[in-house]
Amino acid sequence: MSSLAVKISLAFIAIILILLILANTYFLTASRDMIFTSKQTMLENHSAVITTSLSAMETLNHDNVSQIMELLNVSSLNRISVISADGKVLYDSTTDFANELPLNVEEFIQYALTGNMAFYANFSDGAFRSALYNPITLNNGIAGVLILYDIDETQGSILLSLQSSVKTISFVVGALSVSVIIFLVYYLLSRINIILKGIQPVREGHYNSRIEMSGNDELSALASEFNRLTQRLQETDNIRRRFVADASHELKTPLASIRLLSDSILQIDNIDEDTAREFIEDIGNEAERLAHTTERLLSLTKLDNELQVRREPIDITEVAKQTIRILQPIADVRSISIHVDFDNNCYVLASEDELFHIVMNLIENAIKYNIDNGAVFVSITSSANNIVLTVEDTGVGVPPEDLPHIFDRFYRVDKARSREAGGTGLGLSIVRSTATMLHGSVIALRRKEGGMTFQVRLPMVTKA
Ligand code: ADP
Repeated sequence: MSSLAVKISLAFIAIILILLILANTYFLTASRDMIFTSKQTMLENHSAVITTSLSAMETLNHDNVSQIMELLNVSSLNRISVISADGKVLYDSTTDFANELPLNVEEFIQYALTGNMAFYANFSDGAFRSALYNPITLNNGIAGVLILYDIDETQGSILLSLQSSVKTISFVVGALSVSVIIFLVYYLLSRINIILKGIQPVREGHYNSRIEMSGNDELSALASEFNRLTQRLQETDNIRRRFVADASHELKTPLASIRLLSDSILQIDNIDEDTAREFIEDIGNEAERLAHTTERLLSLTKLDNELQVRREPIDITEVAKQTIRILQPIADVRSISIHVDFDNNCYVLASEDELFHIVMNLIENAIKYNIDNGAVFVSITSSANNIVLTVEDTGVGVPPEDLPHIFDRFYRVDKARSREAGGTGLGLSIVRSTATMLHGSVIALRRKEGGMTFQVRLPMVTKA
Protein backbone atom coordinates (compact mmCIF):
# COMPACT_ATOMS: atom_id res chain seq x y z
CA MET A 1 0.00 0.00 0.00
CA SER A 2 1.64 3.18 -1.15
CA SER A 3 1.43 6.07 1.27
CA LEU A 4 1.04 8.51 -1.62
CA ALA A 5 -2.13 6.70 -2.69
CA VAL A 6 -3.51 6.87 0.86
CA LYS A 7 -2.67 10.56 1.19
CA ILE A 8 -4.24 11.56 -2.13
CA SER A 9 -7.37 9.44 -1.57
CA LEU A 10 -7.85 10.75 1.98
CA ALA A 11 -7.44 14.35 0.84
CA PHE A 12 -10.04 13.94 -1.89
CA ILE A 13 -12.43 12.05 0.38
CA ALA A 14 -12.14 14.76 3.04
CA ILE A 15 -12.96 17.45 0.48
CA ILE A 16 -15.99 15.53 -0.77
CA LEU A 17 -17.22 14.88 2.79
CA ILE A 18 -16.95 18.58 3.67
CA LEU A 19 -18.90 19.53 0.55
CA LEU A 20 -21.63 16.98 1.30
CA ILE A 21 -21.93 18.01 4.95
CA LEU A 22 -22.22 21.64 3.84
CA ALA A 23 -24.94 20.70 1.34
CA ASN A 24 -26.86 18.80 4.04
CA THR A 25 -26.61 21.38 6.81
CA TYR A 26 -26.07 24.87 5.47
CA PHE A 27 -28.45 24.53 2.55
CA LEU A 28 -31.29 23.16 4.71
CA THR A 29 -30.85 25.60 7.62
CA ALA A 30 -30.75 28.45 5.13
CA SER A 31 -34.04 27.37 3.53
CA ARG A 32 -35.63 26.86 6.98
CA ASP A 33 -34.54 30.35 8.10
CA MET A 34 -35.90 31.83 4.90
CA ILE A 35 -39.32 30.30 5.60
CA PHE A 36 -39.19 31.59 9.21
CA THR A 37 -38.48 35.11 7.94
CA SER A 38 -41.33 34.96 5.44
CA LYS A 39 -43.67 33.75 8.21
CA GLN A 40 -42.63 36.62 10.43
CA THR A 41 -43.25 39.17 7.67
CA MET A 42 -46.60 37.63 6.86
CA LEU A 43 -47.71 37.65 10.56
CA GLU A 44 -46.40 41.21 11.08
CA ASN A 45 -48.41 42.47 8.09
CA HIS A 46 -51.61 40.89 9.42
CA SER A 47 -50.88 42.09 12.93
CA ALA A 48 -50.34 45.67 11.73
CA VAL A 49 -53.81 45.72 10.12
CA ILE A 50 -55.54 44.24 13.20
CA THR A 51 -53.75 46.32 15.86
CA THR A 52 -54.41 49.53 13.91
CA SER A 53 -58.15 48.73 13.87
CA LEU A 54 -58.17 47.75 17.55
CA SER A 55 -56.25 50.83 18.68
CA ALA A 56 -59.14 53.03 17.57
CA MET A 57 -61.21 51.60 20.53
CA GLU A 58 -61.67 53.32 23.86
CA THR A 59 -61.37 50.05 25.75
CA LEU A 60 -61.08 46.39 24.75
CA ASN A 61 -63.85 43.91 25.51
CA HIS A 62 -65.11 40.64 24.10
CA ASP A 63 -67.83 42.29 22.01
CA ASN A 64 -65.99 45.09 20.25
CA VAL A 65 -62.96 42.86 19.56
CA SER A 66 -65.23 40.14 18.07
CA GLN A 67 -67.00 42.78 15.93
CA ILE A 68 -63.76 44.11 14.49
CA MET A 69 -62.49 40.60 13.83
CA GLU A 70 -65.64 39.77 11.95
CA LEU A 71 -65.30 42.98 9.92
CA LEU A 72 -61.65 42.29 9.10
CA ASN A 73 -62.43 38.65 8.27
CA VAL A 74 -58.85 37.40 8.59
CA SER A 75 -59.65 33.77 7.87
CA SER A 76 -56.27 32.87 6.32
CA LEU A 77 -54.66 32.61 9.75
CA ASN A 78 -54.91 29.44 11.82
CA ARG A 79 -55.69 31.15 15.03
CA ILE A 80 -56.13 34.67 16.37
CA SER A 81 -56.37 35.48 20.06
CA VAL A 82 -56.66 38.70 21.97
CA ILE A 83 -55.68 38.70 25.64
CA SER A 84 -56.42 41.64 27.90
CA ALA A 85 -53.72 43.28 30.01
CA ASP A 86 -55.03 41.42 33.07
CA GLY A 87 -54.79 38.06 31.32
CA LYS A 88 -58.42 37.46 30.25
CA VAL A 89 -59.09 35.89 26.85
CA LEU A 90 -61.14 38.54 25.05
CA TYR A 91 -61.21 36.77 21.71
CA ASP A 92 -60.11 33.40 20.31
CA SER A 93 -60.83 32.40 16.70
CA THR A 94 -60.71 28.71 17.51
CA THR A 95 -61.18 26.45 20.45
CA ASP A 96 -59.22 23.68 18.81
CA PHE A 97 -56.52 23.35 21.43
CA ALA A 98 -54.80 20.61 19.53
CA ASN A 99 -53.18 23.47 17.67
CA GLU A 100 -51.88 24.96 20.89
CA LEU A 101 -48.26 25.99 20.61
CA PRO A 102 -45.88 23.87 22.68
CA LEU A 103 -44.32 26.68 24.61
CA ASN A 104 -44.78 28.84 27.62
CA VAL A 105 -47.28 31.26 26.12
CA GLU A 106 -47.50 33.26 29.34
CA GLU A 107 -43.90 34.43 29.09
CA PHE A 108 -44.43 35.81 25.57
CA ILE A 109 -47.66 37.56 26.67
CA GLN A 110 -45.83 39.21 29.57
CA TYR A 111 -43.02 40.29 27.21
CA ALA A 112 -45.52 41.80 24.74
CA LEU A 113 -47.28 43.64 27.59
CA THR A 114 -44.04 45.58 28.17
CA GLY A 115 -44.59 47.09 24.70
CA ASN A 116 -42.41 44.79 22.58
CA MET A 117 -43.30 42.55 19.71
CA ALA A 118 -42.33 38.88 20.20
CA PHE A 119 -41.95 36.26 17.45
CA TYR A 120 -41.68 32.56 17.98
CA ALA A 121 -40.90 30.03 15.26
CA ASN A 122 -40.24 26.35 15.33
CA PHE A 123 -39.91 23.50 12.84
CA SER A 124 -40.82 20.10 14.22
CA ASP A 125 -42.87 17.04 13.30
CA GLY A 126 -42.85 18.17 9.68
CA ALA A 127 -44.60 21.49 10.34
CA PHE A 128 -43.62 25.13 10.69
CA ARG A 129 -45.19 26.67 13.79
CA SER A 130 -44.95 30.38 14.26
CA ALA A 131 -46.58 32.90 16.52
CA LEU A 132 -46.47 36.69 16.81
CA TYR A 133 -47.24 38.52 20.05
CA ASN A 134 -48.06 42.16 19.40
CA PRO A 135 -48.99 44.68 22.14
CA ILE A 136 -52.32 46.53 21.53
CA THR A 137 -51.89 50.17 22.48
CA LEU A 138 -54.96 52.35 23.13
CA ASN A 139 -55.00 56.00 24.13
CA ASN A 140 -54.51 55.17 27.79
CA GLY A 141 -51.64 52.72 27.28
CA ILE A 142 -51.15 48.99 26.56
CA ALA A 143 -54.54 47.32 26.84
CA GLY A 144 -53.74 43.80 25.70
CA VAL A 145 -51.86 41.45 23.38
CA LEU A 146 -52.80 40.22 19.93
CA ILE A 147 -51.55 36.69 19.24
CA LEU A 148 -51.39 35.37 15.66
CA TYR A 149 -50.63 31.70 15.10
CA ASP A 150 -49.61 29.96 11.92
CA ILE A 151 -49.09 26.24 11.38
CA ASP A 152 -47.81 25.30 7.95
CA GLU A 153 -47.57 21.60 7.15
CA THR A 154 -47.30 22.02 3.38
CA GLN A 155 -43.97 23.90 3.43
CA GLY A 156 -42.87 21.59 6.25
CA SER A 157 -43.35 18.49 4.17
CA ILE A 158 -41.65 20.14 1.18
CA LEU A 159 -38.63 20.85 3.38
CA LEU A 160 -38.65 17.30 4.73
CA SER A 161 -38.73 15.72 1.30
CA LEU A 162 -36.00 18.12 0.16
CA GLN A 163 -33.94 17.03 3.15
CA SER A 164 -34.30 13.35 2.33
CA SER A 165 -33.56 13.92 -1.40
CA VAL A 166 -30.39 15.85 -0.54
CA LYS A 167 -29.37 13.00 1.77
CA THR A 168 -29.93 10.33 -0.90
CA ILE A 169 -28.18 12.38 -3.58
CA SER A 170 -25.27 13.09 -1.20
CA PHE A 171 -24.89 9.43 -0.39
CA VAL A 172 -24.92 8.37 -4.04
CA VAL A 173 -22.59 11.20 -5.15
CA GLY A 174 -20.29 10.55 -2.16
CA ALA A 175 -20.07 6.81 -2.78
CA LEU A 176 -19.54 7.31 -6.52
CA SER A 177 -16.84 9.94 -6.19
CA VAL A 178 -14.98 8.03 -3.49
CA SER A 179 -14.91 4.90 -5.67
CA VAL A 180 -13.86 6.89 -8.73
CA ILE A 181 -11.09 8.65 -6.77
CA ILE A 182 -9.77 5.43 -5.25
CA PHE A 183 -9.84 3.77 -8.66
CA LEU A 184 -8.07 6.69 -10.36
CA VAL A 185 -5.42 7.05 -7.67
CA TYR A 186 -4.58 3.36 -7.70
CA TYR A 187 -4.61 3.24 -11.49
CA LEU A 188 -2.21 6.20 -11.61
CA LEU A 189 0.04 4.76 -8.94
CA SER A 190 0.14 1.33 -10.50
CA ARG A 191 1.43 3.03 -13.67
CA ILE A 192 3.98 5.02 -11.68
CA ASN A 193 5.07 1.76 -10.05
CA ILE A 194 5.67 0.21 -13.46
CA ILE A 195 7.97 3.14 -14.24
CA LEU A 196 9.73 2.82 -10.86
CA LYS A 197 10.32 -0.88 -11.43
CA GLY A 198 11.83 -0.05 -14.81
CA ILE A 199 14.11 2.65 -13.40
CA GLN A 200 15.52 0.75 -10.42
CA PRO A 201 17.65 -1.78 -12.38
CA VAL A 202 19.38 1.09 -14.20
CA ARG A 203 20.98 2.10 -10.91
CA GLU A 204 22.73 -1.28 -10.88
CA GLY A 205 23.94 -0.75 -14.43
CA HIS A 206 21.28 -2.85 -16.20
CA TYR A 207 20.86 -0.51 -19.15
CA ASN A 208 18.76 -3.07 -21.00
CA SER A 209 15.81 -2.24 -18.71
CA ARG A 210 12.75 -1.11 -20.73
CA ILE A 211 9.29 -0.02 -19.61
CA GLU A 212 6.21 -1.51 -21.28
CA MET A 213 3.46 1.07 -20.87
CA SER A 214 0.16 1.19 -22.74
CA GLY A 215 -1.86 4.32 -23.51
CA ASN A 216 -0.69 7.68 -24.76
CA ASP A 217 -0.79 9.93 -21.71
CA GLU A 218 2.10 11.78 -20.05
CA LEU A 219 3.17 8.65 -18.19
CA SER A 220 3.52 6.59 -21.33
CA ALA A 221 5.42 9.52 -22.88
CA LEU A 222 7.67 9.42 -19.80
CA ALA A 223 8.11 5.67 -20.25
CA SER A 224 9.10 5.92 -23.91
CA GLU A 225 11.41 8.82 -23.07
CA PHE A 226 12.99 6.57 -20.44
CA ASN A 227 13.33 3.75 -22.98
CA ARG A 228 15.11 6.05 -25.40
CA LEU A 229 17.38 7.15 -22.57
CA THR A 230 18.31 3.61 -21.54
CA GLN A 231 18.83 2.65 -25.16
CA ARG A 232 21.22 5.57 -25.52
CA LEU A 233 22.92 4.59 -22.26
CA GLN A 234 23.24 1.02 -23.46
CA GLU A 235 24.78 2.14 -26.75
CA THR A 236 27.14 4.53 -25.00
CA ASP A 237 28.09 1.85 -22.52
CA ASN A 238 28.86 -0.62 -25.32
CA ILE A 239 30.95 1.99 -27.10
CA ARG A 240 32.73 2.78 -23.84
CA ARG A 241 33.55 -0.89 -23.18
CA ARG A 242 34.80 -1.42 -26.72
CA PHE A 243 36.73 1.82 -26.58
CA VAL A 244 38.42 0.98 -23.30
CA ALA A 245 39.34 -2.48 -24.62
CA ASP A 246 40.70 -1.03 -27.88
CA ALA A 247 42.52 1.81 -26.17
CA SER A 248 44.24 -0.41 -23.64
CA HIS A 249 45.25 -2.78 -26.42
CA GLU A 250 46.64 0.10 -28.46
CA LEU A 251 48.58 1.43 -25.50
CA LYS A 252 49.80 -2.00 -24.44
CA THR A 253 51.64 -2.71 -27.71
CA PRO A 254 54.07 0.23 -27.64
CA LEU A 255 54.53 -0.20 -23.89
CA ALA A 256 55.47 -3.87 -24.44
CA SER A 257 57.95 -2.82 -27.15
CA ILE A 258 59.54 -0.28 -24.82
CA ARG A 259 59.78 -2.93 -22.12
CA LEU A 260 61.33 -5.44 -24.53
CA LEU A 261 63.83 -2.92 -25.91
CA SER A 262 64.95 -1.74 -22.48
CA ASP A 263 65.24 -5.35 -21.23
CA SER A 264 67.37 -6.15 -24.27
CA ILE A 265 69.74 -3.28 -23.53
CA LEU A 266 70.07 -4.44 -19.93
CA GLN A 267 70.47 -8.12 -20.73
CA ILE A 268 73.00 -7.94 -23.54
CA ASP A 269 76.45 -7.93 -21.93
CA ASN A 270 78.89 -5.42 -23.30
CA ILE A 271 76.32 -4.05 -25.72
CA ASP A 272 77.98 -1.93 -28.35
CA GLU A 273 77.15 1.72 -28.44
CA ASP A 274 75.53 1.66 -31.90
CA THR A 275 73.08 -1.14 -31.00
CA ALA A 276 72.23 0.58 -27.72
CA ARG A 277 71.65 3.86 -29.56
CA GLU A 278 69.44 2.08 -32.11
CA PHE A 279 67.37 0.47 -29.32
CA ILE A 280 67.07 3.74 -27.46
CA GLU A 281 65.96 5.47 -30.67
CA ASP A 282 63.29 2.79 -31.06
CA ILE A 283 62.23 3.38 -27.47
CA GLY A 284 61.98 7.07 -28.25
CA ASN A 285 59.85 6.36 -31.34
CA GLU A 286 57.50 4.13 -29.38
CA ALA A 287 57.22 6.76 -26.65
CA GLU A 288 56.40 9.37 -29.27
CA ARG A 289 53.69 7.11 -30.72
CA LEU A 290 52.28 6.66 -27.23
CA ALA A 291 52.19 10.42 -26.75
CA HIS A 292 50.50 10.86 -30.13
CA THR A 293 47.88 8.20 -29.37
CA THR A 294 47.06 9.61 -25.94
CA GLU A 295 46.79 13.10 -27.37
CA ARG A 296 44.28 11.92 -29.96
CA LEU A 297 42.41 9.86 -27.41
CA LEU A 298 42.06 12.99 -25.32
CA SER A 299 40.66 15.01 -28.19
CA LEU A 300 38.15 12.21 -28.89
CA THR A 301 37.08 12.18 -25.25
CA LYS A 302 36.57 15.91 -25.47
CA LEU A 303 34.30 15.35 -28.47
CA ASP A 304 32.40 12.67 -26.56
CA ASN A 305 31.77 15.00 -23.68
CA GLU A 306 30.44 17.55 -26.14
CA LEU A 307 32.26 20.21 -24.19
CA GLN A 308 30.83 23.65 -24.74
CA VAL A 309 33.11 25.07 -27.40
CA ARG A 310 32.78 28.58 -28.73
CA ARG A 311 31.53 28.36 -32.28
CA GLU A 312 31.37 31.17 -34.80
CA PRO A 313 31.06 31.42 -38.59
CA ILE A 314 34.46 30.41 -39.96
CA ASP A 315 35.50 30.25 -43.60
CA ILE A 316 36.62 26.63 -43.94
CA THR A 317 38.75 27.48 -46.99
CA GLU A 318 41.03 29.55 -44.73
CA VAL A 319 41.52 26.55 -42.44
CA ALA A 320 42.22 24.33 -45.47
CA LYS A 321 44.81 26.76 -46.87
CA GLN A 322 46.61 26.86 -43.53
CA THR A 323 46.55 23.06 -43.24
CA ILE A 324 47.97 22.63 -46.72
CA ARG A 325 50.79 25.07 -45.86
CA ILE A 326 51.69 22.82 -42.90
CA LEU A 327 51.49 19.58 -44.90
CA GLN A 328 53.13 20.80 -48.12
CA PRO A 329 56.72 19.94 -46.99
CA ILE A 330 55.67 16.34 -46.20
CA ALA A 331 53.98 16.03 -49.61
CA ASP A 332 57.04 17.53 -51.30
CA VAL A 333 59.31 14.84 -49.85
CA ARG A 334 57.37 12.23 -51.83
CA SER A 335 56.66 14.53 -54.79
CA ILE A 336 52.94 14.49 -54.15
CA SER A 337 51.17 17.48 -55.66
CA ILE A 338 48.27 19.16 -53.90
CA HIS A 339 45.57 20.77 -56.09
CA VAL A 340 42.93 23.07 -54.66
CA ASP A 341 39.61 24.43 -55.90
CA PHE A 342 37.80 26.65 -53.39
CA ASP A 343 34.53 28.61 -53.65
CA ASN A 344 34.23 31.96 -51.88
CA ASN A 345 32.44 32.52 -48.59
CA CYS A 346 32.27 28.97 -47.35
CA TYR A 347 31.21 29.75 -43.80
CA VAL A 348 30.49 27.04 -41.26
CA LEU A 349 29.40 27.47 -37.64
CA ALA A 350 32.28 25.81 -35.80
CA SER A 351 35.39 26.37 -33.76
CA GLU A 352 38.66 26.63 -35.68
CA ASP A 353 39.94 23.53 -33.85
CA GLU A 354 37.01 21.43 -35.04
CA LEU A 355 37.47 22.39 -38.69
CA PHE A 356 41.22 21.84 -38.36
CA HIS A 357 40.61 18.29 -37.05
CA ILE A 358 38.51 17.45 -40.09
CA VAL A 359 40.68 19.03 -42.79
CA MET A 360 44.00 17.97 -41.26
CA ASN A 361 43.09 14.30 -40.83
CA LEU A 362 41.68 13.95 -44.34
CA ILE A 363 44.52 15.67 -46.18
CA GLU A 364 47.14 14.00 -43.99
CA ASN A 365 45.67 10.57 -44.87
CA ALA A 366 45.49 11.49 -48.55
CA ILE A 367 49.25 12.10 -48.45
CA LYS A 368 50.07 9.22 -46.09
CA TYR A 369 48.26 6.56 -48.10
CA ASN A 370 49.32 7.97 -51.47
CA ILE A 371 51.95 6.73 -53.87
CA ASP A 372 55.11 8.66 -54.56
CA ASN A 373 54.50 11.27 -57.31
CA GLY A 374 50.78 10.99 -56.60
CA ALA A 375 48.26 13.80 -56.33
CA VAL A 376 45.78 15.13 -53.78
CA PHE A 377 42.72 17.15 -54.83
CA VAL A 378 41.06 19.34 -52.25
CA SER A 379 37.87 21.15 -53.19
CA ILE A 380 35.44 23.19 -51.10
CA THR A 381 32.14 24.16 -52.68
CA SER A 382 28.94 25.70 -51.43
CA SER A 383 25.77 24.02 -52.67
CA ALA A 384 22.20 24.66 -51.48
CA ASN A 385 22.57 25.03 -47.72
CA ASN A 386 25.71 22.96 -47.44
CA ILE A 387 29.43 23.32 -47.63
CA VAL A 388 31.02 20.26 -49.25
CA LEU A 389 34.68 19.47 -48.59
CA THR A 390 36.07 16.83 -50.94
CA VAL A 391 39.53 15.29 -50.49
CA GLU A 392 40.65 12.89 -53.23
CA ASP A 393 43.90 11.01 -53.65
CA THR A 394 45.57 8.76 -56.16
CA GLY A 395 46.83 6.37 -53.49
CA VAL A 396 46.40 2.76 -52.46
CA GLY A 397 42.70 3.09 -51.61
CA VAL A 398 40.74 1.00 -49.12
CA PRO A 399 39.61 -2.56 -50.01
CA PRO A 400 35.78 -2.78 -50.27
CA GLU A 401 35.50 -5.14 -47.29
CA ASP A 402 37.29 -2.61 -45.03
CA LEU A 403 35.32 0.40 -46.22
CA PRO A 404 32.47 0.06 -43.68
CA HIS A 405 34.95 0.04 -40.78
CA ILE A 406 37.43 2.78 -41.52
CA PHE A 407 35.57 5.32 -39.36
CA ASP A 408 35.72 2.98 -36.34
CA ARG A 409 38.12 3.84 -33.60
CA PHE A 410 41.55 2.15 -33.93
CA TYR A 411 40.59 0.54 -37.23
CA ARG A 412 43.51 0.36 -39.61
CA VAL A 413 43.50 -1.45 -42.93
CA ASP A 414 47.21 -1.93 -43.18
CA LYS A 415 48.51 -1.87 -39.64
CA ALA A 416 52.16 -1.88 -40.63
CA ARG A 417 51.78 0.96 -43.11
CA SER A 418 49.71 3.01 -40.71
CA ARG A 419 52.18 2.47 -37.87
CA GLU A 420 55.08 3.34 -40.09
CA ALA A 421 53.34 6.57 -41.08
CA GLY A 422 52.67 7.38 -37.42
CA GLY A 423 48.95 6.50 -37.63
CA THR A 424 46.83 5.73 -34.60
CA GLY A 425 43.62 4.53 -36.22
CA LEU A 426 41.82 7.44 -34.61
CA GLY A 427 41.99 10.12 -37.31
CA LEU A 428 38.84 9.21 -39.27
CA SER A 429 36.77 8.60 -36.14
CA ILE A 430 37.72 12.10 -35.03
CA VAL A 431 36.57 13.38 -38.45
CA ARG A 432 33.24 11.61 -38.16
CA SER A 433 32.59 12.62 -34.53
CA THR A 434 33.39 16.24 -35.32
CA ALA A 435 31.23 16.31 -38.46
CA THR A 436 28.32 14.79 -36.51
CA MET A 437 28.75 17.33 -33.74
CA LEU A 438 28.54 20.10 -36.32
CA HIS A 439 25.31 18.53 -37.68
CA GLY A 440 27.08 17.33 -40.78
CA SER A 441 28.17 13.99 -42.23
CA VAL A 442 31.12 12.28 -43.89
CA ILE A 443 31.31 9.57 -46.54
CA ALA A 444 34.19 7.57 -48.04
CA LEU A 445 34.17 6.31 -51.64
CA ARG A 446 36.66 4.31 -53.68
CA ARG A 447 37.78 6.14 -56.81
CA LYS A 448 37.48 4.19 -60.05
CA GLU A 449 40.95 5.20 -61.11
CA GLY A 450 42.39 4.15 -57.72
CA GLY A 451 42.66 6.00 -54.45
CA MET A 452 39.92 7.40 -52.24
CA THR A 453 37.39 10.19 -52.12
CA PHE A 454 36.30 11.57 -48.72
CA GLN A 455 33.42 13.99 -48.67
CA VAL A 456 32.33 16.03 -45.67
CA ARG A 457 29.03 17.91 -45.76
CA LEU A 458 28.44 20.69 -43.20
CA PRO A 459 25.57 23.17 -42.83
CA MET A 460 26.43 26.53 -44.38
CA VAL A 461 25.94 29.76 -42.45
CA THR A 462 26.15 33.36 -43.57
CA LYS A 463 28.65 35.56 -41.84
CA ALA A 464 26.96 38.16 -39.66
P1 ADP B 1 45.33 6.28 -39.14
O1 ADP B 1 45.84 7.05 -38.00
O2 ADP B 1 45.75 4.85 -39.14
O3 ADP B 1 45.52 6.95 -40.45
P2 ADP B 1 42.55 6.87 -39.61
O4 ADP B 1 41.40 6.72 -38.72
O5 ADP B 1 42.89 8.20 -40.10
O6 ADP B 1 43.76 6.20 -38.84
O7 ADP B 1 42.28 5.93 -40.81
C1 ADP B 1 41.88 4.59 -40.62
C2 ADP B 1 42.39 3.69 -41.68
O8 ADP B 1 41.71 3.98 -42.91
C3 ADP B 1 43.83 3.90 -41.98
O9 ADP B 1 44.64 3.08 -41.18
C4 ADP B 1 43.95 3.48 -43.43
O10 ADP B 1 44.10 2.09 -43.54
C5 ADP B 1 42.60 3.84 -44.00
N1 ADP B 1 42.65 5.12 -44.74
C6 ADP B 1 42.31 6.33 -44.28
N2 ADP B 1 42.44 7.27 -45.24
C7 ADP B 1 42.85 6.63 -46.34
C8 ADP B 1 43.18 7.03 -47.69
N3 ADP B 1 43.07 8.32 -48.08
N4 ADP B 1 43.55 6.09 -48.55
C9 ADP B 1 43.64 4.79 -48.16
N5 ADP B 1 43.36 4.35 -46.93
C10 ADP B 1 42.97 5.24 -46.02
